Amino acid sequence: MHLMRGLMCALLLVPALFGAKTLDIYFVDVEGGQATLIVSPNGDSMLVDTGWSDHNFRDANRIAYVARKAKVKKIDYLLITHYHEDHVGGVPNLVQKIPVANFIDHGANVETGRDAGRLMDGYLKAVGTTSRITAKPGGRIPLKGVEVKVLTSNGERIQTPLMGAGQSNPLCGQDRRRAPDPSENARSVGFLLTYGNFRFLDLGDLTWNKELELACPVNLIGTIDVYLATHHGTNLSGPATLVHALRPRVAVMGNGATKGGSPDTWKTIRSSPALEDLWQLHFAVAGGKETNSPDPFIANMADRAENCGGAYIKLSALPTGEFRVLNTRNKYEKQYPGR
Ligand SMILES: [Zn+2]
Ligand SMILES: [Zn+2]
Repeated sequence: MHLMRGLMCALLLVPALFGAKTLDIYFVDVEGGQATLIVSPNGDSMLVDTGWSDHNFRDANRIAYVARKAKVKKIDYLLITHYHEDHVGGVPNLVQKIPVANFIDHGANVETGRDAGRLMDGYLKAVGTTSRITAKPGGRIPLKGVEVKVLTSNGERIQTPLMGAGQSNPLCGQDRRRAPDPSENARSVGFLLTYGNFRFLDLGDLTWNKELELACPVNLIGTIDVYLATHHGTNLSGPATLVHALRPRVAVMGNGATKGGSPDTWKTIRSSPALEDLWQLHFAVAGGKETNSPDPFIANMADRAENCGGAYIKLSALPTGEFRVLNTRNKYEKQYPGR
């Protein structure tokens, strides 16, 4: 009898909850780069990074495919976290596949040399006369229906805690600072996306010391629901001092077969106090079975990019804080009730 009543409730609740408008986040597999498509409840879109250049339009095609699935015909905001190949390299190909209304980045490239010059030339040519906005910590990206707050940009960060945050962090001191990182990674644009009670954090490839500054002496961000593992889950980023203080319920790792997905970063995330699941865009070859999530949570099992089908992960959230995650490779889906 109780079972029947429970079942009836579940059947009635599911369509009611997910009949409401969702915020959708698509984690596109770009083989260890980033390409995250965010579609707000009223259909505004923001793409975070574009994957790599060339490979016969591999990454641009994967993004365009996901955009079609999401019924997105134009990218309202293309946010480039920083000017590395696996983030900005795909821009020239992408703009041939789908129009972009506004570009957002951290300002000038701090790296020099042939690669940096080539990437920047390609980017600026793609921008052309389109609107280009510089992200500033504390500023907002005007995606309608949600709040996108910039936390870091060009090596700077928010100076005051977000609303509800600012608690002293007892973990401070356990992770030592490292040598300063002069690369573009430390300049990454990082943001917090909020939809009602639901909170998603993406810090691009921000590196260790800059992440510690967000966590110590006080936690400037507070707690979150979903964490995109910084820097594809490499151990140059993702100190436990920050990750554990954020208390994510779910983490998504944008690693490739042989890029990102360091076993020690995997363990840091896995041991975070409120973590329920860690989803991965790829099986990480370096980790073996022991430091990879169970197969249902992994979007691509191929050991090499050349053999990879490029399945994506889709997350849908409601303002109640409830969300669900879908692995498009095996159609495995899991719901996370609001907390
Ligand atoms: Zn990267
Ligand atoms: Zn990078």
